[in-house]
Amino acid sequence: MKYAVIDRGDPLSIELKEKIIKMAKEQGLILDQDHPDYVISIGGDGTLLKAFHQYINLIDDVAFVGIHTGHLGFYADWQVHEIDKLVFAMANNKPHIVKYPLASLEVKTTYETTQYFALNEFTLKSVNSTLVAQIDINDEPFEMFRGDGLVLSTPSGSTAYNKSVGGAVIHPSIDMIQLSEIASINNRIYRTLGSSIVLPKHHYLDIKNIQQQTILISIDHQAQMLTDLISIRCSVADCKVNFARFRSFPFWDRVRDAFIDSNSLNT
Ligand code: NAD
Repeated sequence: MKYAVIDRGDPLSIELKEKIIKMAKEQGLILDQDHPDYVISIGGDGTLLKAFHQYINLIDDVAFVGIHTGHLGFYADWQVHEIDKLVFAMANNKPHIVKYPLASLEVKTTYETTQYFALNEFTLKSVNSTLVAQIDINDEPFEMFRGDGLVLSTPSGSTAYNKSVGGAVIHPSIDMIQLSEIASINNRIYRTLGSSIVLPKHHYLDIKNIQQQTILISIDHQAQMLTDLISIRCSVADCKVNFARFRSFPFWDRVRDAFIDSNSLNT
């Protein structure tokens, strides 16, 4: 088995990386940063997002494993003191592969159309004025959005930015994308639906930059400014991301442990 390691760059993550490489060698695992079977990310959810984008071209062939050096992550389930157990399992056990849906984004500018994939979400904001964007669903005009921005999330990203803006938490076994509003303007003149919408696979949504605004888009942890954006087509991607599970890591346990104070259950 071949593996790669991506670390957050802080002293603890670098130290852990070195330990893992030593232990993995003893277990007969081969370090191959270019063509791995497993990608181990050491840090937090942000490090796993970074690892995901680094290996996007090999997405069907690699499986991710996350080690968290801080508090429990949504993608990173192994703790620092468990790395020997993890390396042993990687060398000796067959993992259960869990597949999560991704969002596909076709970003059309004056000169080109580029496809991106998001593991958590994509956001869109106007740089220096209220965002105005026409939203079409399956080529039919749906609404004219005015407000601070839009968040288009995957199921596994539904617990991240999407949740902060009031979107629903969605189990990652469901193939869907969710569009949530950030502070939409709603009055007698301007009107949007006001609640998040969920699109199934094979439906698509176009966000049109009808006022030729300068737009700030972010895809997971990376942001870029676009001065010539025409539209963005959003859909459930054909590909999925693989996670290697050497033990169970139930989604609802993660949601409870991250957001619900266990004392609040003792009433
Ligand atoms: P980071 O690694 O510090 O992540 C920021 C926080 O988001 C961390 O607490 C992390 O655990 C949490 N997070 C990331 N993915 C998650 C998920 N799928 N479910 C629940 N929590 C999750 O910083 P970064 O590298 O910049 O991470 C980028 C992510 O930060 C974005 O994808 C976005 O979801 C999130 N973010 C959230 C807000 C918000 O909630 N208002 C604003 C900006 C960015």
